[in-house]
Amino acid sequence: MPDHPFFSFDLLATRGHARAGVVHTPHGDIPTPAFMPVGTQATVKTMTPRDLREVGATVILANTYHLYLRPGAETVAKMGGLHRFMSWDGPILTDSGGFQVFSLKGLRQVDDAGVTFRSHLDGSIHRFTPETVIAVQEQLGADVIMALDECPDPHDYAYNAEALTRTHRWAERCRQAHRRPDQALFGIVQGGVFPDLRAQSAAFLTGLDFPGYGIGGLSVGESKAEMHAVLDLLDPLLPADRPRYLMGVGTPEDLIACVARGVDLFDSVLPTRIARHRAALTRRGRINLRNAQYADQPGPIEPGCACYTCRTFSLAYLHHLVKADEILGLHLLTLHNLHLMLSLAREIRQAILSPSRNDVFTQYNSRGDPS
Ligand SMILES: [Zn+2]
Repeated sequence: MPDHPFFSFDLLATRGHARAGVVHTPHGDIPTPAFMPVGTQATVKTMTPRDLREVGATVILANTYHLYLRPGAETVAKMGGLHRFMSWDGPILTDSGGFQVFSLKGLRQVDDAGVTFRSHLDGSIHRFTPETVIAVQEQLGADVIMALDECPDPHDYAYNAEALTRTHRWAERCRQAHRRPDQALFGIVQGGVFPDLRAQSAAFLTGLDFPGYGIGGLSVGESKAEMHAVLDLLDPLLPADRPRYLMGVGTPEDLIACVARGVDLFDSVLPTRIARHRAALTRRGRINLRNAQYADQPGPIEPGCACYTCRTFSLAYLHHLVKADEILGLHLLTLHNLHLMLSLAREIRQAILSPSRNDVFTQYNSRGDPS
């Protein structure tokens, strides 16, 4: 594995277990805690890079599995890499593709050397090994790339123990295979809800000295209390001077609760996915714009929200757009939902850097910690 002359993490402040910092990458800085919008197919659905900048995105995620199948990593490389291909010049993180492959129930077969799977697009047969997922991610060219891991049912001890051995061996092989010095490779801690396996995983992976660590296998069916217990356990076991990325989480509540447990980076399809279900995130919970009660509401989705949607359009107009199945409705809801997650992350960061009496953490703690 190369040194990472282009990648570093500065921890600027802590508040309890919460951390504020900056991740430096070849395509710019990521102030943390940060929420990463998900651009599965090299596009954050309905959002141009200009829109993403406007809502305050500092880093986005793209999915290796999808881009490997279509348009293919060679095509992306030929077009100058993912940043140029999708015209996003900020930091990008790619996952290893493992999570998607392991979600293909009945379409994949795992062995110690890798995983063979059928494409969900045309049924063709493919194989991911630690070496191939690194090669594909090197062709895509993201700033942060992830090791291949296996993500079992979080409550199945025997399967987690067996898969963990593979995940660790794969992490070593990914580290060996990784060549590009302008990319940082993160290892991924697994082990389900089991403290002994999680501790074992943290010890093994930190021994390999990755520039950052993913926390995988959460938000996949366990309870919030179980997720929080894993994060509490890992907080002192992961090095303080490396970023921690909680994969596939979460909701606005998760952001606050998990930053409070030492997490720096998040990604989730939630804000973009629920927009396609005609729903908006608000500070008082989710609302569905199809609901007839919005038909004659002159106000915005969220009073005081600074996003373009809330500055410009009434609930009544958004209700009309979603009832009429207009594309603009999906775009405006996505824009608001991402803005909410990104501004919440900024607010959390501010509350770590300069705590005040009525900030997000104080409000959160006064409501009672769900754990
Ligand atoms: Zn808004």
